[in-house]
Amino acid sequence: MLNITDTNKFGKVIGGALAKVEQTVTDAKTKARWINAIAKAAVEIEENGVFMTWMDEDQSLLIWSQKSNHIYSANGVCQCRAFEQNAPCFHRAAARLVRLYIEAENTPVKTHTQEVLDVPYLKNNAYTKAERVGGIRIN
Ligand SMILES: [Zn+2]
Repeated sequence: MLNITDTNKFGKVIGGALAKVEQTVTDAKTKARWINAIAKAAVEIEENGVFMTWMDEDQSLLIWSQKSNHIYSANGVCQCRAFEQNAPCFHRAAARLVRLYIEAENTPVKTHTQEVLDVPYLKNNAYTKAERVGGIRIN
């Protein structure tokens, strides 16, 4: 089963996916279909995540559809009717959302402020004003 623990992070992933469709899909009908697929995927993951399993080996999402009693294995491809017709489906959208979410979870969050505080030579020093660094004039 899927376990989305960080809903903030997942929300950002969904927002990013919608933005990407907005920026990259030019055909209005296809765009609307992908936006629907992403929205449905978000709802399905939240409500039916228990029927989904992320497969790390081939980066795919297994989705058991209770409606059709089929199991779909989605990454870039899918086995559903929509995919056969070359149309966006929520299975693929869900697989992408889950992959991006897992990637985001595995990337430590670093804020700009923390980075600056960790690097001593970037700290403001009220007492000295560096004019030269290793013989190079910097101001
Ligand atoms: Zn599908």
